[in-house]
Formats: sequence, C-alpha cells, structure tokens
Amino acid sequence: MDEKQIEKVNCLIIGSGPAGYTAAIYAARADLKPILYTGLFIGGQLTKTGEVENYPGYPDSTMGPEMMANFHRQAAKMGADLRIGYANAVDFSKRPFRVSIDDKKELLADTVIIATGATPKWLGLEAEQTYAGKGVSACATCDGFFFKGQDVAIVGGGDTAAEEALHLAKLCKKVYMLVRKTGFRASKTMVHKIENTENIEVIFNVEVKNIVGDGRKVNGVCLRNNQTNTDLTLSVSGFFVAIGHHPNTELFKSWLDMDKAGYIQTKNCSTATNIPGIFCCGDAQDANYRQAITAAGSGCMAAIDCERFLLAMEHSPIAIADVS
Ligand code: NDP
Repeated sequence: MDEKQIEKVNCLIIGSGPAGYTAAIYAARADLKPILYTGLFIGGQLTKTGEVENYPGYPDSTMGPEMMANFHRQAAKMGADLRIGYANAVDFSKRPFRVSIDDKKELLADTVIIATGATPKWLGLEAEQTYAGKGVSACATCDGFFFKGQDVAIVGGGDTAAEEALHLAKLCKKVYMLVRKTGFRASKTMVHKIENTENIEVIFNVEVKNIVGDGRKVNGVCLRNNQTNTDLTLSVSGFFVAIGHHPNTELFKSWLDMDKAGYIQTKNCSTATNIPGIFCCGDAQDANYRQAITAAGSGCMAAIDCERFLLAMEHSPIAIADVS
C-alpha cells in the first residue's frame, strides 16, 4: 500500500447499515472517538426497501431510507465522525491495522469494526428495479405482511426460499414457489414442510422472464417452462427473490476466517474475529437472521467488544497486541 495521506484512528467502522451506525452510536458514547466510513451505498440495504413495520420503537412504521437517515443523524449527534468513503485495501498483518480509503488516504487503526453487510442476489431483470418496494422484495420476513390475503410468488429452491415461502404461506392466500430446476436445493425437512403446506404451489423447471405491473405496483409474473417450452403468466401482487446473498467481505478474505460462502466467522457468540482488534457485525457475519434489528444488535455488541479490547490493551498491551 503506498504511503499517502495518513491518519491515526482509535476505532474505525466500515459500513453504514444498521450494524455500522449502531456500532458508531455505542462507540461514540463510550468515548472511543469512532470514525465511520459509509461505503458506496450509504445506509445499506434498508435504503432500497419501502415501509419498515417490524423494527421495535416505530409503532406507526417508518420508511427504510428515512430510518437510515435517522440512524445517521443519531450517530452524528452522539459524536461519531461519519465520512463518505470506500475502503479499498486492508493490511491486517499487525496493529495498527492499515486501511486504504478510496486509494487516497491511509488509516492506521487500533481497532476495526467491519459492518459491510451483504447484497441479495437478483435475477437481473429491469422490472426488479422498477418495482423495488412496489411489490418486489428480497426479504419475505420484512415485507410479507404487506401482502396479507393476496397471491404472491417467490423464486428460489434453497432453504431461504423454502423458509420464506412458509412464512408467506401463513400470511398470503396463495404462494407460488418458482424453482428453475427439476428439484429443490433445500434440505429434506424444508421440502417436506413445503409439500405439506396446502397454499404453496411449487412450479419446477421455470425461468422468470419478467415481472409486470401498472407502473406503480406489481400484478403478475411471466414464466417460461423450459421443459415444455411453454409460457405462463401468474397473477400476483408480490414477487419475492430468494436466490441467495453475497456477503460484502471480499476485501478481507486473505485475513479473516470465513465460511465457504464468505461470511466472516466470529468467536464464541461475540463479534471477535480471528484477529484480535478486528470485529465484525451485521450481515457480513450472519447468513441466518439478516434483519435490521439483529444487525443493529450485533453492532452494539461490536462496540462493546471493541471498548473492552481497548481497555484490556491499555492494561496488558503486549499480550493482546501481538497479532502477527
Ligand atoms: P442457496 O444457494 O442454497 O440456494 C439458492 C437457490 O436459488 C437455489 O435453488 C438456486 O437454484 C436458486 N437460484 C440461484 N440463482 C437463480 C436464478 N438466477 N434464477 C432462479 N433460481 C436461482 O441459497 P439460500 O439463500 O437458500 O441458502 C444459503 C445458505 O444458508 C444455505 O447453505 C442454506 O442451507 C442456509 N440456510 C439455512 C436455513 C435453515 O437452516 N433454516 C435457512 C436459510 C438458509 P439451483 O439449485 O438450480 O442452483
């Protein structure tokens, strides 16, 4: 990494979703003088959703972008230094850790909290963007409620799709589960549950060709059956995509322990990674729950873990400092 503009940081937070901002709020209140770099998509996944009804403390619901703007304001108010910038290279071989921002600036960080999140995979249809928050969603747990009593479709044949289809089946009149191959990827237990849920209809061998609507909301999905070479249109008001997520952790892969899918592994129900002083929270380490509230909770944990680490370092710097 070239020596450029260099700055020393006590607690560096990378990422600006619920996890990153919550870590910033707690770290600022603990006087850790955190600096948070937002990444490219300020506010993360929630800025791409519509109404949020399941975040405690908002009995009248709120909109995702508004909620993240409030997270930002609260972190700033607590004294966190919030900056727009993208971490593009890291060197975690020894402390202070080196993090390059936009290739222009180098930070020397005593501790790093990674809150870079995950990105849902999309089919790549233009209509997914057109109808995002207007009937198209990548999270049935978040948005299924808005389709109560209606007909919806979900694409994907893995455990996430199965779990979300079961969730939707409790709320919706009918759930079409669209699987591109002849069989599921989901576990046998989940498949068994799907097969025993009356209002779920599984359609195999189908490719989603388009999502249609009136410009304001979804009213159908166009399918191609690749076995029979026939086309089919389903009338649905909700369309859910559940074909997997990419954790945004590529930058850290030569340093941190990750699972096969790239989720960063944390230790013993904490946010500690395999490198002392580097913590991870939110969807970057959570393939399982992926909710705003769980991300925020783990952001709080990361700030507390970080505070304890810095305190321990003050008292016993040698024992903890040697990470090489
Ligand atoms: P997976 O990668 O397991 O499954 C993705 C599914 O989406 C597959 O059926 C795949 O089809 C399909 N798919 C991928 N791309 C497309 C596309 N372009 N068009 C149509 N379909 C597509 O992801 P999941 O998110 O389901 O699961 C991730 C991991 O998390 C897994 O290990 C899973 O077991 C685990 N998990 C466990 C849960 C639990 O235990 N309760 C709950 C949720 C997840 P194909 O099979 O043809 O490739």
